[in-house]
Amino acid sequence: MKKTVRDVDVRDKRVFLRCDFNVPLDDSGVITDDRRIVSALPTIKYLMEQGARTIVASHLGRPKGVADMKYSLAPVANRLSELLGTEVIFVSEPEVVGPAVKDAAEALEPGSVMLIENVRFRPEETKNDPSFSSELASLADIFVNDAFGTAHRAHCSTAGVADFLPAVSGFLLEKEIRFFSGLLEDPEKPFTAVLGGSKVADKIPLIENLLDKVDTILIGGGMAYTLLKAKGYEIGTSLLDEDSIQLSIDIMKKAEEKNVKMLLPVDTVCAKEFKNDSPSVCVDVDKIPADMMGLDIGEKTQKLYRKVIMESATVVWNGPAGVFEMDNFAAGTKAIAQAMNDTKAVTVIGGGDSAAAVRKFGLEEGISHISTGGGASLEFLEGKKLPGVECLQDK
Ligand code: AMP
Repeated sequence: MKKTVRDVDVRDKRVFLRCDFNVPLDDSGVITDDRRIVSALPTIKYLMEQGARTIVASHLGRPKGVADMKYSLAPVANRLSELLGTEVIFVSEPEVVGPAVKDAAEALEPGSVMLIENVRFRPEETKNDPSFSSELASLADIFVNDAFGTAHRAHCSTAGVADFLPAVSGFLLEKEIRFFSGLLEDPEKPFTAVLGGSKVADKIPLIENLLDKVDTILIGGGMAYTLLKAKGYEIGTSLLDEDSIQLSIDIMKKAEEKNVKMLLPVDTVCAKEFKNDSPSVCVDVDKIPADMMGLDIGEKTQKLYRKVIMESATVVWNGPAGVFEMDNFAAGTKAIAQAMNDTKAVTVIGGGDSAAAVRKFGLEEGISHISTGGGASLEFLEGKKLPGVECLQDK
């Protein structure tokens, strides 16, 4: 168990708080989705109430180590001020930690909050260079990491500063760790994983790690066709990852040996072109026409997968069941989202596309946990250690 912000005395202390404010902006720099800022509010409010002097940092986009003002955190500072209903002092310096930031941090009153510039303005940040970590650390007495979305990166502001300061988690990171460790350590059975997305190769480490924990794996998305091909089906022009056919054969064999049911689609919605308006047909997987590609799971598969999800006690979902960005091929993903919403099971969604899909369909209400970190949650489920978590003090 890692220490959290509750386990340290933050009163009057300077706290370096790493958040993930990597929010989407439109062409005129307006934030189009502030969920990542909203998710950080419980920790920030707690620090304010406790009388800490909070210095918040984040990255935004990929400025590639230069102070490109297109990626300035100025819009985030405004939105954060609005959400908190109080002024957030924003000190923008191209070197991120310059004289103005040092002075402002020094002068910060208990209970107040300041935000510094995009940490990726500095080339050292993504290299986890100790010199920049120590500059960041020099601003504070305690490091609180609440940026789950970047916890799989060993960067100065996500892990390096912990070499210089006592490090604990914020509430968001704590919640993410609780749900994901719960899945890996002590899931209620039956435990089902729903996997989709485009490439099998990307999901092999995940499947390998889950084979010792889950009872059933439901496969959808583009990756299903390589697995179907490995089983001897003709898949027409569907997405095929030739190089992963042997891997697919091996992983299905391993699943069998471990008594894990690995279900593949039994029917699929096919079209001639990768286009929303390409006329489609739904066929069983042994009847995929040679000139068509599978773009979604069919109705029989949806029903089958729904039944498994409804009968599970724990379900984790990573990757869409079809090309959900196109309305005509979104039904399979919607059916999974609906089942996730309807089941009594503990349901966890691993961020990224599946989280976007659940939101697109307005079905997030019934989900136990939707992760804020696509990449980080995937690495956690693969059994990898996350640098942004590992660097925190143990209880
Ligand atoms: P990934 O980036 O590997 O998580 O895959 C997500 C992408 O897979 C989404 O953009 C989906 O549109 C895409 N996808 C899902 N099903 C299919 C399919 N049957 N054929 C091609 N792409 C798919």
